[in-house]
Amino acid sequence: MIQVRLQSFTVYESALMRTTSTLIHTEESLILVDPNWLPEEVAMIRRDIELTRDGKKLYVIYTHHHYDHLIGAYAFPDATVIASRAFVETNSDEQLQEIQSFYEQNYIDRPIQKPNVDLIIAEDGTLELGATPITFYLTPGHDSTHLSLVVEPLKLLICGDYGSNIEPPFIEHDAEAYVNSLQTLQTAVYEHEIRWLVPGHGDVCDDRSKMIERLSAAEEYILALPEERVWSPLWPRHAFFDRVHERNRKHVEQKMQEREARRQDY
Ligand SMILES: [Zn+2]
Repeated sequence: MIQVRLQSFTVYESALMRTTSTLIHTEESLILVDPNWLPEEVAMIRRDIELTRDGKKLYVIYTHHHYDHLIGAYAFPDATVIASRAFVETNSDEQLQEIQSFYEQNYIDRPIQKPNVDLIIAEDGTLELGATPITFYLTPGHDSTHLSLVVEPLKLLICGDYGSNIEPPFIEHDAEAYVNSLQTLQTAVYEHEIRWLVPGHGDVCDDRSKMIERLSAAEEYILALPEERVWSPLWPRHAFFDRVHERNRKHVEQKMQEREARRQDY
């Protein structure tokens, strides 16, 4: 379904995990971020692109290589693909395997592929896509391949899997990097006077103090690990998130033990 449709961009929302795809319309190009999940949902995005394309160049940006963000890649073979260097260098077989078993269980038959990247983002900086400046930030922590981006003319921040109002942090790479990335994003909100924040899962936010609230709730949660569970009132409490929390807690605990072991080696 469509969560937000404005003249300059559309945010699509999947029925699964409220995952978002963002399509940005500029004078000379179309820029799509993280096309996902179900065949009909991906087809709807593809159709909207064809309806408004008018000979324009198509870019697809992947915020990271998790399977729910990659799954729609098959539908955009004509796109110029943008992702981080870590995205290119990291093996994604496990992610593709996740798509495979998701399709098997749901009797879906669609091509499964990791997209070839044409423009590699190796560091923070601004890239002109046509005449549209996009500032990229490498934001590891949730995942090592993660990046976020600001579409400068629109003051639009696409976070990827940060800044959600419906889920807690999923620390699948590194807690310290996660906190640094949250701080990078908070600075970006002020620096670029962000008007729209699009999270990878959940609701678009158009209120700057709420954007900061979301990002700092995640930061406080991680900084309190492993002992405490500083749970934002925004995040539901249920069995699935109990498991996510337990994984986060163990992750931080293990990193602390490793650090302690290294200290004793010296
Ligand atoms: Zn993810």
